[in-house]
Amino acid sequence: MSLLATAAPPELGLPRTGPWTQRLLAGAKLAAPEPIANHASRLGGGITDWTGRAGPEQLLDRVRLSGLRGRGGGGFPTSEKLAAVRRHGPGSVVVVNGAETEPAAAKDDLLLRLRPHLVLDGLLAATRILGARRTFLVARSAQAVAALETALRERPDIQIPVEVVRGPVNFVGGEESALIRWLEGGPALPRYQPPRVVDRGWRGLPTLVQNVETLAHLGLVVRLGPEWFRGEGTADEPGTMLLTLSGAVMAPGVYEVPIGTSLPQILHVAGADPGAVALLVGGYFGSWLRAPQVRDLSLSRGSLRPAGANPGAGVLHLLPEGTCGLRESGRILAWLAAQGARQCGPCASGLPALASALGEAVASGSEAALARLDRWGNQIEGRGACRHPDGAVNLARSAARAFPDELERHREGACGGNRKLSLPLPAASDPP
Ligand code: SF4
Repeated sequence: MSLLATAAPPELGLPRTGPWTQRLLAGAKLAAPEPIANHASRLGGGITDWTGRAGPEQLLDRVRLSGLRGRGGGGFPTSEKLAAVRRHGPGSVVVVNGAETEPAAAKDDLLLRLRPHLVLDGLLAATRILGARRTFLVARSAQAVAALETALRERPDIQIPVEVVRGPVNFVGGEESALIRWLEGGPALPRYQPPRVVDRGWRGLPTLVQNVETLAHLGLVVRLGPEWFRGEGTADEPGTMLLTLSGAVMAPGVYEVPIGTSLPQILHVAGADPGAVALLVGGYFGSWLRAPQVRDLSLSRGSLRPAGANPGAGVLHLLPEGTCGLRESGRILAWLAAQGARQCGPCASGLPALASALGEAVASGSEAALARLDRWGNQIEGRGACRHPDGAVNLARSAARAFPDELERHREGACGGNRKLSLPLPAASDPP
């Protein structure tokens, strides 16, 4: 059964646009970082022209009333995270998290490369709300680092120390306590919590680690107000979000859509192949959806929850016709198991066992392997010090649920897949 009735023509150029409002990606389609003059004239002046007289508490109120939630995957209310750091008083640290270690994601890097001033606006607002004393900007690519360094030279309004660094590349390195450990000169591996980083983060100071896209929204919220922000999205999940869309679409790329946009509409605009097999929602910790589910769902936590899915950091991958979803899941799970930090039991022995069970299920479709997968999932879930093991279990369970026909075929020794790889992994992660 196809995911869509018809395919749409391709759209060219990055970032992608659709029949929806653009906020973060509004303005001229520049291939280079937007200069401060364009940014200010497009938005009606510098951010301090808008927020100059507002005190930290008023700025925090704007964020609270907007209903903004983090766009890094967790979806935590941004105002609560700010308030948790602010209650320690001035002198905290802000880390802009653009490490984006998820291989299928590209939106934070794109935002830093094309709209660095939006992110800097958000950073400035956050530091004013907190009375922060130092900041780190962590970016994935050399281009994003260069864009930030150029943009910072155009920002005399940012007066506290800012350090721009290229982030760690290991998957768990993007987790907030891992990022802080790495900024302190240690390995990019998660720390046991508590204490939470909002209480004791970089060098023991209260620290706000905030995703790039979240800060860009924050910059617009403090300028334009909560009512404006709530003009898009749903009542429970206001605003727009960035998606990285890849796989069986004619126009892969980064899209901005209002939260609550229907999944079929998004796929139509991206030129989805009507013969595509399944949609992975939420990246490598995410869930597979088959055609009948996708038709009735929209891009929001509320809509996806009953289907066992979550938008995460906005990664969508459409599995091409002929590609085996089971095999792809097994490949990603083996990589996730290898990416674990192996500091806790679920990572050290649980994930390799889970990956091996899925590998065996892929190879033979055996019921015993599926039972082992289930058993290991139960033993691992909720027991890691970070969400890495839970994310891997979610992907494994989702694959077992979403591809029953494929499992049956594998049981009969007749996989219909063409062995083509679809989901991206870092170079050298796949066998030649
Ligand atoms: S679950 Fe794995 S990645 Fe997370 S803290 Fe433990 S060892 Fe590290």
